[in-house]
Amino acid sequence: MQSPSKPFDLAIIGAGPAGAYLAYRLATAGVKVALFDPKAPWEKPCGGGITHKAWSRFPLLTDPALARNEVDHSLQISPGNHFWVVSEGHPLYIVDRKDLSALMLAKAVEAGAVHYPLAVEKVETWGSKLRLATADEDFYTSFVVGADGVHSLVRRYFLGPLPAERTLTSIVQFYEGGPADPVLMEVTPFPGYVWSFPRQKYLCVGAGAMERGHQIKPALERFLARYYPGRRPYNTMQGALLPYMKDKAAYREPRIGPNWALIGDAAGFCDTLTGEGILYAVWSADLLAEAFLAERRAQYDQAWRKAFGRHLRWGAWAAKYLYSPRNIDRLFTQMTVCPTFHRTMIDFVWNLPSYPWLLSKLMLSLPRIYWQWRRFRRAGGAIDRKLLHQFETMADKVKMTWP
Ligand SMILES: Cc1cc2nc3c(=O)[nH]c(=O)nc-3n(C[C@H](O)[C@H](O)[C@H](O)COP(=O)(O)OP(=O)(O)OC[C@H]3O[C@@H](n4cnc5c(N)ncnc54)[C@H](O)[C@@H]3O)c2cc1C
Repeated sequence: MQSPSKPFDLAIIGAGPAGAYLAYRLATAGVKVALFDPKAPWEKPCGGGITHKAWSRFPLLTDPALARNEVDHSLQISPGNHFWVVSEGHPLYIVDRKDLSALMLAKAVEAGAVHYPLAVEKVETWGSKLRLATADEDFYTSFVVGADGVHSLVRRYFLGPLPAERTLTSIVQFYEGGPADPVLMEVTPFPGYVWSFPRQKYLCVGAGAMERGHQIKPALERFLARYYPGRRPYNTMQGALLPYMKDKAAYREPRIGPNWALIGDAAGFCDTLTGEGILYAVWSADLLAEAFLAERRAQYDQAWRKAFGRHLRWGAWAAKYLYSPRNIDRLFTQMTVCPTFHRTMIDFVWNLPSYPWLLSKLMLSLPRIYWQWRRFRRAGGAIDRKLLHQFETMADKVKMTWP
């Protein structure tokens, strides 16, 4: 890459978790990196939840400088008021995105990446190179990485725009609150959900829908009135999109070409079931860094599909089934009354098992799940108090009872 004064080996557009982590990895290995982002560090509309599978893989996400709220349980509520207490056995960390953004950008710059606080307005082929146009200056590079989020300019130039049906719409707003508030996720009567993630100084609340045309703002307002009455907003409401690996085409599409690559949201890497994207942003950056440093860039496509691509595809497929009110009522009950099924689902959603392993575990567990379910039915639908214990601890806070 050439600017008037400095030569670079590659340009990264976007300094979110994906771009900043790639810049950090490559710059640490001595690669000359230019990182473009006019907003970083900033508070991206997001829950800020960092799961165990993310922080255990990437220790940078547990840096002591990053303030966090640690949460052990969350309450998942279905449209018919059935519920499921998720307890992964490891805390979920909830952070401010601005803090995460500042930490990751600082690590990239310390490692030697050069941050240009500029928006890239255009990417185009320029002879054997690529031209990146900003408002005041043009930059030339032989390789560009799109880490520029769901509206990626790099994706648009090399693959075309991300189709609207491969995105989920969402809104986010902060309210009065703090670490003592519960983490809740309520499935809406339309395919979607509303959630609350308490941060250190306030409560972050969001709503999302898997299809266009649903009323997510009234759903968020009803959720607030029910579980957090009287809370005043802390900022203005913001809208944001999440990528959704909806179909086979989205899975099969290349994420790397001779002079470009996509990572994070720009590559469409987000878990539809949970909305988790920070892990896949950092993980895809890590896999691309490995491929780049080993001078086997083309292997990146194989690497992300093997590491997490199939999981995202399955998650998107399962979400279509799960975010239906009838199915989710039944499923939440099953997970509460069948501890064996609960454990298998925790593994499926949070522990990234291999699918053959998961399937064989499920098959082996079927007799036990059957007996647990039968015991519940025989008791006339009454739930063993022991199983309700975790729920009751949380339910006090939101004044809920089992239907
Ligand atoms: C409502 C909501 C809630 C979410 N909650 C969670 C959660 O709790 N946990 C979780 O793991 N994930 C969550 N996600 C997903 C997560 O926010 C994303 O998956 C993650 O931020 C993706 O990181 P990224 O680096 O790929 O993209 P981004 O974080 O979107 O970063 C892209 C960067 O590119 C920059 N950029 C864009 N265009 C240009 C340009 N032309 N020139 C220069 N720079 C540019 C932007 O300024 C931005 O900083 C949530 C998402 C939404 C929408």
